[in-house]
Amino acid sequence: MNSLKLIDGKAAAAGVLRQVKADIARHGIHPALAVILVGDDPASHVYVRNKVLRAEEAGIRSLEYRLPTDIPQADVLALIARLNADPSVNGILLQLPLPAHIEEALALQAIAPSKDVDGFHSENVGGLSQGRDVLTPCTPSGCMHLLQATLGDLSGKHAVVIGRSNIVGKPMAALLLQAHCSVTVLHSRSVNARELCRQADIVVAAVGRPQMLDASWLKPGCVVIDVGINRIEAGGRSRLVGDVDFDSALAVASAITPVPGGVGPMTIAFLMKNTLTAALQQANTPRSLSEAPCLSTC
Ligand code: NAD
Repeated sequence: MNSLKLIDGKAAAAGVLRQVKADIARHGIHPALAVILVGDDPASHVYVRNKVLRAEEAGIRSLEYRLPTDIPQADVLALIARLNADPSVNGILLQLPLPAHIEEALALQAIAPSKDVDGFHSENVGGLSQGRDVLTPCTPSGCMHLLQATLGDLSGKHAVVIGRSNIVGKPMAALLLQAHCSVTVLHSRSVNARELCRQADIVVAAVGRPQMLDASWLKPGCVVIDVGINRIEAGGRSRLVGDVDFDSALAVASAITPVPGGVGPMTIAFLMKNTLTAALQQANTPRSLSEAPCLSTC
């Protein structure tokens, strides 16, 4: 495989974590991230364990709250209120999915916007769409980092985002727009999705359908960011694949993220970066140029 084509998310994430650690030391602060996990979804336990490990590596204290599946919604909201009021806690992450009896939107909205390190609170969502300097969702932020590291200035590029979820597709489109791309968002009701996608300089696939995009979706030379994480059974074994048919796309794209080892590690790295940002903002500490995003809406 041509390694020049491979966008190495593991290495990029390690770089972001090193920078977070260095910034924490430079500012002499001790950020703390509270992680709330409700129930016993095995994948969520793995995600939370990884987040806690990366937090430790970056010099962020993590506080874990593992709650039983049948915990009343009121108790979850009470915990969030307590963490909101605790000045020693800088970030609060509510691991999704939640058990059905807990209203996801209500619980996410209960997190103080200043501690909303996932960037899901409506105040942060609105701020992002207005181009304000707010906490932005980790996965799209990680994708932007990879794109800017690969292409430099994204201004004027045509970006196609496939998927319009609140956690990936929509914030991804908003961030690309902020970086002065022309943005097309495709979704399950789009007509001629493949033809539209084939016009893109940048393709971000966040669909949740294994290997849906092959070379026929791609313009030669485009850059592909594969957000999808899908488990498939093949040849008697189980493995993870993205939304992009990697081998087919590799022949056409100029650069592409693998799955695993692409966007996944960036999501966790940006969770740590957001926790640092939240801690600095709460301490009213101005950020350096490397820490602050560049915002423009003109
Ligand atoms: P979602 O199910 O909430 O949204 C999927 C989107 O895909 C929808 O907006 C839908 O309109 C669109 N879609 C469905 N079928 C389509 C089709 N045939 N053509 C075009 N669009 C179609 O999913 P999500 O939460 O946004 O996650 C998407 C994928 O990204 C999943 O595989 C998920 O596991 C993965 N993910 C990865 C990370 C990471 O850190 N790498 C983080 C979040 C999500």
